[in-house]
Amino acid sequence: MRPAIGLTCHTSASQGSYHTQYGANGSYVGWVERAGGLPLLLPNVDPGLVDAYLDRIDGLLLTGGGDIHPHHYRAEPHKQLGSIDVPRDRFELPLARAALARELPIFGICRGIQTLNVAAGGTLRQDLVSDPIATVQHRIANVGGPLGHHTILIEEDSVLAQLVGATRAVVNSYHHQAVDEVAEGFRATAFATDGTIEAIERDGERFLLGVQWHPEVMEPDDPLTAALFEAFVAACRRGGRR
Ligand code: MN
Repeated sequence: MRPAIGLTCHTSASQGSYHTQYGANGSYVGWVERAGGLPLLLPNVDPGLVDAYLDRIDGLLLTGGGDIHPHHYRAEPHKQLGSIDVPRDRFELPLARAALARELPIFGICRGIQTLNVAAGGTLRQDLVSDPIATVQHRIANVGGPLGHHTILIEEDSVLAQLVGATRAVVNSYHHQAVDEVAEGFRATAFATDGTIEAIERDGERFLLGVQWHPEVMEPDDPLTAALFEAFVAACRRGGRR
């Protein structure tokens, strides 16, 4: 049976409309489907429903999106903070915390690594663009297809290095925030050459990994992307529902 994978959603409202929409990009859905999972989209409803959702899924994919309100990690808003999705923050953070408590496999992508880190008690750097420490360009503006943009250096003894089969890779980069203090129980296992954290993980049997790049929009034959989604879905199948 295909493991059920919950995908978190952004909230949007079409211009000039009072209709609220919840959505996730098709590239996440497609990779979960191709890797053998059953993708289920989780709308940003009342956080009281978090446990009811977690009863029905075998793993959680924290997807990309806008910025998390810094109050969730005890900081004040930087002047370059981007847009905040209030219903998403309200639903997704308790969802991620409860999924961690249940030991469900979790894969965080872009905003998702940040959600995972904040949910587990860590903090974020709010704007790399104006941050003098970030000397590599992390927010690319490209058109016409996928792009590997900057190098990451991967810790040798990490789950990520095992999956990649190397300690270096070239990844895309569509973020202006990054993990700052790594949450207790996690460690940073990949870095850009300017030291920006590009992956965090927790050791163990279950899959608990966050990556700062967007593997789902690398080239369709990107071996790293396939390895990540296949390992995640396999962990969800092994872990089962609890
Ligand atoms: Mn980057």
